[in-house]
Formats: sequence, structure tokens, C-alpha cells
Amino acid sequence: TDSSDRSFQSRPTICPFCGVGCGIEYAPKSGKATGWMAPVNKRGEICPKGAAAFDVVGHEERLTEPLVRENGRLVTASWDEAFARISDAFSGIVAENGADALAFFASSNCTNEENYLLQKVARALGTNNVDNCARLCHSSTVAAMQNRFGAGAMTNTLEDLSDADVFLVMGANPAEQHPIIFRSYLLPAIRDGTDLIHVDPRANDTTEAATLHLPVRPGYDIPLLNAMAAVLLEEGLVDESFLDDRVTAVEQFRAFVGSVDVAENATLAGVPTDNLREAAQLYGEADRAAIFTGMGMSQHHCGTDNVHALLNLALLTGNLGKRGVGVNPLRGQNNVQGAGDVGALPDVLPGYQLVIDDEARQRVAEEWGVEPPPTPGLTEVEMTHRFGEEIRGAYVFGENPVITEPNANRVADAFEDIEFLVVHDIFRTETAEYADVVLPGSSWAEKAGTVTNTDRQVMRMRPNADLPGDARRDLGIVRELGARVTDLDFDYEGPAEVFDELTRVSPIYAGIRYDTIGTDSLRWPFPKGASSGVGVLHADEFASGNETAELRSVEHVDPVDSVADDELVLTTGRVLQHFNSGAVTRRSGTLMRMRGEDVLQIHPEDASDCGVNDGELVRVENDRGEVSVQAEVTPAIRQGTVFMTFHYADPLVNVLTPDELDPVARIPEYKHAAIRVTVTGDA
Ligand code: SF4
Repeated sequence: TDSSDRSFQSRPTICPFCGVGCGIEYAPKSGKATGWMAPVNKRGEICPKGAAAFDVVGHEERLTEPLVRENGRLVTASWDEAFARISDAFSGIVAENGADALAFFASSNCTNEENYLLQKVARALGTNNVDNCARLCHSSTVAAMQNRFGAGAMTNTLEDLSDADVFLVMGANPAEQHPIIFRSYLLPAIRDGTDLIHVDPRANDTTEAATLHLPVRPGYDIPLLNAMAAVLLEEGLVDESFLDDRVTAVEQFRAFVGSVDVAENATLAGVPTDNLREAAQLYGEADRAAIFTGMGMSQHHCGTDNVHALLNLALLTGNLGKRGVGVNPLRGQNNVQGAGDVGALPDVLPGYQLVIDDEARQRVAEEWGVEPPPTPGLTEVEMTHRFGEEIRGAYVFGENPVITEPNANRVADAFEDIEFLVVHDIFRTETAEYADVVLPGSSWAEKAGTVTNTDRQVMRMRPNADLPGDARRDLGIVRELGARVTDLDFDYEGPAEVFDELTRVSPIYAGIRYDTIGTDSLRWPFPKGASSGVGVLHADEFASGNETAELRSVEHVDPVDSVADDELVLTTGRVLQHFNSGAVTRRSGTLMRMRGEDVLQIHPEDASDCGVNDGELVRVENDRGEVSVQAEVTPAIRQGTVFMTFHYADPLVNVLTPDELDPVARIPEYKHAAIRVTVTGDA
């Protein structure tokens, strides 16, 4: 890195690397990040990834000037030239094919204000084709929870969850992915006697603290959850008064679960029946049991139904609406919650108001002076699949879909096909290589605004560094984009003015004032006129406005890929040291020294069957593509399943993942791909 010519200041801001939302600031002596006593990390504790956050701020590969494509090559240009090209191209496309020929990729790693403005640009142009990468991680969780409870977010707060007697962690690895939540909120409770049930095909650091580990077969969560529901009913571990008062469709559900054979489902899910029963008993017998859910649940072509099956457990046992209970999605990026909250989604306006709701559109129109279009737009992967067809132009802000979307060879072809692509980022990412215009934006350390963390706390970011070269603040870039390509003036002075507009169009943020957040946090829902936000949701009524929510009978569907006798199941995920596509963390010397390369985790029995020794280079392939990677032979991964991360451009695991989508949330099935493993030699 090269930060010698940059000016840094220490100001309390929020870590960019996960949805926990720890407070960090620049430490002049070390040049690293240090924690401050913030709303989440109250004692200033941070994890290794957060500590390395400044490594990339002054990186020599930062984009410092706009680039435009000339004769096939990206060359430097002025901001005026770059914006003129975007304006000409977008207006030409809209004139010829309408605004729905454009696609906007917002960013869950950028602020509420930046995302709010970008979705406003899209809608002012006349399209709802705007999405963010929450589509790829928790869109199914949000869809199921919004549908049943009326809010697609954590039901509880980090503070109150330590009251739980049992934690049921499904498809998540908080010890590595949300380290400060794990260390500061879960682990102290576990040390005080709270049981942890960990459901994950791979034993990891979270499993180390577990009372019980169920190494579920990827793609078979519904049989497992339905069997747990059957045990709860069979053994009378349900909360009858909660069922009477707050739950509907109870009798239909009893009948549905009555046909579930617990042992058969346990076999299907690949876990011992006794362990499954024990998990249900632990969860059902607890006074207070809290569920955490992660991408192991959501990233399936049945992701929405997976979460529906999970919500049944909380409803059956009355584990909702009080401290230490609930269903709590662990969100990945620092503003993945907020990007959805502010409307960077194709079917909802700010505050999750449906675009098909005439009154909601009218309310927004009164503020904006232009009415958003009434038809839901395309989701992130759907947009990419239509590049070169209905979609002729795209604006990609702080995302790297060439690496992050499934069936990556198809994605690369799609990016070849699009007529006009703008990439707005801090590095020349793999996606930027396809761009016609590249705009050099600001890193997390150079921006002001707000982000919303995994338990709905809205917090302020403050600049800790000057911008490099001719790079600009992201908010200013999106503001100028809006002024250039729409008929609105986009004349905002700064994030406070944008946030205030957001509170006027988003009921869940209505009572929050930007200038009262300070170094604290304010939590949504925060109704207009209220003195504080709501901590525990669904206490007397659900956020939907109904007193009751229904039990949903959910049938298992097989994974998209069938698995032949000579094949294994590849499942993908994350590790402690890296962040998403790795575009940022792969540029950190510290983090690359900790974990420079990916490996394929393979069970010793499978390794023996495939003739693979630990450390050997193997080819992993299927009909969609192939990668070469070093094998790590370990019993941590369940037999029949192999594991790789999605943090690397090489090996790019997403060439192997299927791009069939969940029918409701349109999330891809990252967690189950049939593959073959063959030895190619020593690493
Ligand atoms: Fe940053 Fe998350 Fe680590 Fe906190 S837990 S320091 S937010 S990466």
C-alpha cells in the first residue's frame, strides 16, 4: 500500500467489513484501525478484518481518475467527459428502448444516502430495475419474514439476545463472519450456560462452542425443520396459549406435520435421528430460544421456503415478541440492511412500500415531483441474464457481479454482450474490465453518511481520510449522475439533506433525525413523533399490523443439481479473513498473509475415493466450468460435500454454481452444486 501522500484523521466511523457495524477510527501510531466505544462494540473491541480496514484505503491500485473506453482500451478522461458519455448513452437507450432497458446495481457496502439517491435516479428515469447484492445473500430471508411477520429484519436486538437459554444457529458461522457479535454477545451467554445448537454441513469456529452440531446435508433444511416441528408437537413442547392468541393455520399445520416421519426426514437431512430430536427438545424446552439464520439457509432455490420452515419453529414455541428470542438474520455487508431499507430493490420503494401500491407511489411522488413506475423491476441476476437483450445499459455501483453472480462463465458472456456499462468503484475490479466508463469513487474511510447494521441500528460514518487523486465522494457522483440523466435537480448539500428526505418518504425511518444520531445509534422502526425506535419487534402485534401470523406447511424440493454416483456436492461460503468478492480484502497485505489462497475442503473418505492427498492440486468441475485448487483433507466437512469460499477471482468458484433462482426472492442456489474432483498433481 502507499498512503504516504494521503492525509488521515481519527473520526468515529463504522467498519465496512460486515453487518455487525463496529465503530472504528484511524489510529495514527499504527496506521491501522482501532475500535471506539460504539453502540455495538461497546468496549471498542474489533476483529482482524476490521483492524486491517485501512490497509486498502491508501492502496496504490486505487482508481484516481475517470476512465473511458477508446479503441477497446480504458484510458483516463475528465469527469466532464465521463459524465457526458454516460448521459449520451443512457438518454439514447431510453429514447430507443425505454427506461427498462437500463439496469442499476446499488451497493450494500455503501451508505443509505448513496443508495437512496441511486434508486431515485433509476425511478426518476422510469425504471424499477434497481437492486443490490442483498439479492444474493438474504433476499429469501427478507421475503419470508416480510410475508409472515411484516418486517424483513432481525426480530430482536443484540443486547436482548443474551437473555436466551438456547441459540439455534442455522447456516451461519458467526464466530468467523460476525466475530464481535459472537465474542461480545453470544459467547458470554454460552459461558453462562446458554446452549448452542449449530446446524451447518461444515464444522467451524462456531461449532467449537456448540452443545450440539447437526451437519445437515446441503439442500435438505426443510426435512430437518419439519421433523423438528413434528418433535415439538409430538412431545408437547409448543406454547398453546401463543398458538391460540397469535398464530393461525394451526390445525392445517398439525395435520401436515402429522404425516412427517421424523426418522425418514433425519436420514434425508443426513443427521442422526437422536441428534435431531435432541435439538428440537433443547429448543422447545427453553424458556427463551433465539434463532440466528445465515446464507446456508437463504442461498438455495428454495431459500424462501427454508426460512418459512424456520419461522414455524418460533411460532410453535412462542419464541417471538420478547427478549432473548426471535428469528435473527445475520446480515453480511455493513449496509446490506440499509440498502434494502432505502428502496434499492426492484419491488419496493423506501421503507419496503410496494411499488405496486398506488398510494405509496403517490406519497413518494409528492416528495420527488415524479412518480416511480408501478411495475416491479428485474432482480440482480435477472438483469445480468438479459444483458444484450432487453437490458442495453447498466450502472454498477460498488459491486463486482463478474465474481459474485453464479454460473460465472455465463455472467462473463453477458458482460461482453452489454452495449454500455458504467462501473463506479474504488478499484479496477474484474467487472470494471468490461466497462465503457469507470468512475473513481470513495472508500468507506472517505465518506460521510449513515449505515444500518444487522440489528437495525442506524449509525453515522465520518471521513477518516482525504480522497486520492481526482476520485470523488460517492454521494457527489450519484448526485451528479441524477442531475445529468434525469429531469430532477438532485441539488443536495450533503448526506443530512438526503437522509431527511428519506425520512419523509420512508415510514420506518420517519422519526429519525440525522443530527441527533451523533456517535450513538437510532433503531428502526422509529415512527414519526416517537421518542425512540422499537427494539423487540412483534410484541403485541406483528409488524404487518396483524395480531397473528400463520404457520406455513412447507414441502421439500430437491436441489437443482442431481448428484451422480461419481459426484460430490460443492457448497460455498466465507472465512474470517475475507470479505465477499475479495476485491478489497485481497488487496490487504495483512489479510493475504493470513489467508492468501483458497482451498477445497474435502472429507478423508471422499479424498480416499477420489485418490486425493492433503495439499494436492485438484480439478473441480461440472458442465458449467472448472477450477484448479489445492485440497485440504479434513473431517470438518461432512462426507459427500466439499467446501470452497467465494472470495477469490482465481479459483473463481462461481463458474461452478447454478443460476436457477428461488421463485419468490430470485436468489440463486450457491449452496449446492454437483461437481467432480480429480487430482492434477502437487500444489
Ligand atoms: Fe468489522 Fe465485522 Fe469485524 Fe466488527 S466484526 S470489526 S464490523 S468485520
